[in-house]
Amino acid sequence: MEMTVSRILDGKAIAKTVRAEVSARVRALRARGITPGLTVVLVGDDPASQVYVRNKDKAAAEAGFAARTLRLPATTRQAELLDLIDALNRDPGVHGVLLQLPLPKGLDAEAVLERLDPAKDVDGLTPRNVAALWRGEDALVPCTPAGCIELLDRHGIAIEGKRAVVIGRSQLVGKPLAALLLARNATVTIAHSRSRDLAGVAREAEILVAAVGRAKLVKASWVRPGAVVLDVGINRQEDGRLCGDVDFHDVLPVVGAITPVPGGVGPMTIAMLLANTVRAAARSAGIDPSALGSA
Ligand code: NAD
Repeated sequence: MEMTVSRILDGKAIAKTVRAEVSARVRALRARGITPGLTVVLVGDDPASQVYVRNKDKAAAEAGFAARTLRLPATTRQAELLDLIDALNRDPGVHGVLLQLPLPKGLDAEAVLERLDPAKDVDGLTPRNVAALWRGEDALVPCTPAGCIELLDRHGIAIEGKRAVVIGRSQLVGKPLAALLLARNATVTIAHSRSRDLAGVAREAEILVAAVGRAKLVKASWVRPGAVVLDVGINRQEDGRLCGDVDFHDVLPVVGAITPVPGGVGPMTIAMLLANTVRAAARSAGIDPSALGSA
């Protein structure tokens, strides 16, 4: 490994940099008459979703987007939701649509995502974008996994050739992150709730990602000395404080680098949502997003 002294990977600081770059790109787009438009669709009143959506709205407005949240009651029918998606697909002022998940019971998220225009799918969850990611083609990529890669890149942590282990196989985090690491030439293992000897598998990792949703699951004995550990988990402890899937203080003496919770992967998610939306807006106008500067 290239590191001997453990480092805290500061997602808050990196997210701030990314957001400043996004704001600069928004200004460049607005100078050409395009205001990136992000619409968040929130169905029902899940309390965690309310918080996430508020934060996304605020960050998007701060970055100069035309941002809005459409709040629909939990009683919304599938057909109504599909009609709304059709309308957003047609609306030229909407460049990105984020369907806040989970949907209330009785609504079929997969069918809604299938309806969404892949070019506006800033969460990277439509079948077309998922396929493109696994085929190694250019795609809009889910925000949390994209944020993990950005964190590694901006800390100068090489991915190519490394042994990477991702614990968790969700559509939202585990699988797309494994695909991204693979696309960057890591040797990738996806571990999950049925994996045998999870600790032994984790210990092989030079880059270890925990995306499980179990507080402090990963202990020092699971970590290869010098490994880079990305902790995606957000768990609420009994005392109300947040913690990750990694037992931070236990593993700290062993790791080469680690993301804290909060302040690690979390802030990157919104930053990447904004970056995806700017990309989508640029593309819709036939502008190469890289012509607008980094991020
Ligand atoms: P999920 O529940 O959809 O998936 C969890 C995965 O973990 C499953 O694939 C399952 O196989 C695996 N798993 C469950 N128990 C396990 C165990 N005991 N051992 C090994 N694997 C096990 O969750 P998700 O949406 O992928 O989210 C995972 C965590 O990341 C949650 O804590 C969530 O809150 C958090 N999260 C954070 C962000 C962020 O912005 N930082 C974004 C999304 C999710």
